[in-house]
Amino acid sequence: MSARSNGASALDVARESYRSISLYAPNRAPAAIDLSDNTNLWGIPPAASRAIHEAASSTVTRYPALYAADVKRAIADYVGVDPEMIVTGCGSDDVLDSAIRAFAEPGDVIAYPDPSFAMIPIFAQMNGLTGVAVPMTETHDVDPAGYAAANARVAYVCSPNNPTGGALSRSAIEQIVDESRGVVIVDEAYAEFAPANLVDLAQSSPRVLISRTLSKAFGLAGLRVGYAIGHPDLVSEVEKSRGPYKVNGVAQRAAVAALTEDLEWVAAHVREAIENRERLSNALRGMGLAPLPSAANFVLVPVRDAAGIDRALRERGIAVRPFTALPRIGDALRISVGPWEMLDACLSALADVLGAEASR
Ligand code: PMP
Repeated sequence: MSARSNGASALDVARESYRSISLYAPNRAPAAIDLSDNTNLWGIPPAASRAIHEAASSTVTRYPALYAADVKRAIADYVGVDPEMIVTGCGSDDVLDSAIRAFAEPGDVIAYPDPSFAMIPIFAQMNGLTGVAVPMTETHDVDPAGYAAANARVAYVCSPNNPTGGALSRSAIEQIVDESRGVVIVDEAYAEFAPANLVDLAQSSPRVLISRTLSKAFGLAGLRVGYAIGHPDLVSEVEKSRGPYKVNGVAQRAAVAALTEDLEWVAAHVREAIENRERLSNALRGMGLAPLPSAANFVLVPVRDAAGIDRALRERGIAVRPFTALPRIGDALRISVGPWEMLDACLSALADVLGAEASR
């Protein structure tokens, strides 16, 4: 290769355990109607939009606040806890990755439900942890016995769970907290769409970290703002491993605006999302399908050939997220909930595709 090579290839000098990691690569090809990533399909909250457009040049030329103190304050008010209980990050991806790194040494075990958020096993491997996938129960709930058997240093649960959509039972999560020896991370990326949340667990246990995001209900996925709620000593460990300057200046301004001035806008669109979620589920049932009950802004619907149906939907301008061979579920499509016209177009295309399949 290069004249300076001593014979070692780039891969020879890379970490052995990275060989089997591939880049996160869901199909992000543009589609006329994109129902694939559970973002806010109604758009950007108005005060956040103004904050972006009116950002002073120093917001761009200077470094942002080290640990986004003003965002922490706004989040603390929104959630109803002290700012000392909040840590922010570049999306909740960053918060989760930093938390896993903060609470486990390489070689330790992290347990997570199967199926659940696809990034967790990847973060586990990147941080040198051993991942233990705990199969979900028949009712798509977490199984505390599986967590107890894993005896993990970090227990991850996700409620409402992605991709199944259902809220996990509180008693199962409490049992995992009571029986585990390490940190329990509760991923509540979709909390706003669910009837209940688990913030009080982070107030009553110093080992519970609740992870959240402004990417879903708040419509700010492109700005990458996530946060976690936990005991002050717990979040400061996450902050160490997250490092400084992770939330950029424009994102900080937009996040504060959204959290202080756009809450009614967010709530109104959450209500519409919940209404449309139920309408979408009914329509899918009307087509003879059996969508799983959802407490999120998406619906998972089992189908026979997810990859094939996904391709056919894309040919018709509709993007959804296909899953193949999920445990207990099989193939399924995850459909994000948005304005009804979008869902209507998806339903028509799906009826068309399933009709064509049935007549084959
Ligand atoms: N957790 C869950 C369950 C998710 O579905 C997602 C987004 N797909 C994330 C975390 C990460 O979101 P973000 O990094 O945009 O905050």
